[in-house]
Amino acid sequence: MVDFRSEKLAGELLDPRRGFEPAAVELEIRWDPLTRQSARILPDAGLLPRANGDLQRLANGTRAGCPFCRDRLETVTPKLLPALSESGRICVGEAVLFPNLVPYSKHSSVSVYSPDRHFLPLGELSPRLIGDNLATQIVFARAATKADPESRWVSINANHMLPAGSSVFHPHLQGSVNPFPTTFQKLLADVAGAQFRSYLESEKRDGTRYLGSTGHVDWLASFAPLGPAELRAFVPGVASPTELDGELTEEHGGGIATALGLYADLGFESFNMALYGAPVGTPDYPLNLRMMCRSNPEPLYRSDATWLERLHWEAAVDISPERLAEEAAGRFGR
Ligand SMILES: [Zn+2]
Repeated sequence: MVDFRSEKLAGELLDPRRGFEPAAVELEIRWDPLTRQSARILPDAGLLPRANGDLQRLANGTRAGCPFCRDRLETVTPKLLPALSESGRICVGEAVLFPNLVPYSKHSSVSVYSPDRHFLPLGELSPRLIGDNLATQIVFARAATKADPESRWVSINANHMLPAGSSVFHPHLQGSVNPFPTTFQKLLADVAGAQFRSYLESEKRDGTRYLGSTGHVDWLASFAPLGPAELRAFVPGVASPTELDGELTEEHGGGIATALGLYADLGFESFNMALYGAPVGTPDYPLNLRMMCRSNPEPLYRSDATWLERLHWEAAVDISPERLAEEAAGRFGR
């Protein structure tokens, strides 16, 4: 059975805003029904201020010398070996994929949405741009797993903007094909299929955090988020991104674009995303996606990754999952 465990905690302090009168303060601790990872839901404290509109200046300041812009990409980004791609790079629509110079994985890729789009605010990441970029990653993952069958763990990820961990401003995705799972891939792959089904069914029945289905993909606000405004998506019947066909890739791209439109409307401009694959044939594993907002890129910003997130693996967020679901109402078909 699925356990949506949560505990409310109350503390007390003498509040300087009210003449040092005693005041109650509350928080809630929740445990993820699938992985048991804990999270803290805080009262709204304005921890993540909205983007202040300075992104265009950052874009302008990073354009000269950008390795992913069209005039440089051809000559400064690496090429894939012929076993993976005859032309050395994988192109779908405007998207272009090439190997990552930094070996984060045995097979590590970077794919730009477009060499002509150095700056893409979240609201401009269309279903087309995302679907085509995902498609380059899927072609890459298929080629890498075919050439190296021991590397069965695939993930497709995003660090969008500097606070999310991107070292290059130009928007891109990153692919990972590795012989070993990451800690989280292993945690998720170890969850029983029945547990995933029962989690989704419970959330659908309850309706508070369930956002709807785009056809084959279910979306919901995470009960115990890993970070601010975390959304989750599940693709039942597909274990690895390599199994996503053209139609499902388009559908998933559309869902991600909807999610990013929501983030943009909430005033965010930086996000992380992971599409956690398990090896093809993993029984009953639904392809999992998690995405979250990150602090907005601006001088003297507060990082959303604190001692809690980095060292205790327990996020503290002041956007409640239920409020996020209210903000998302109607966007994912529900
Ligand atoms: Zn660029």
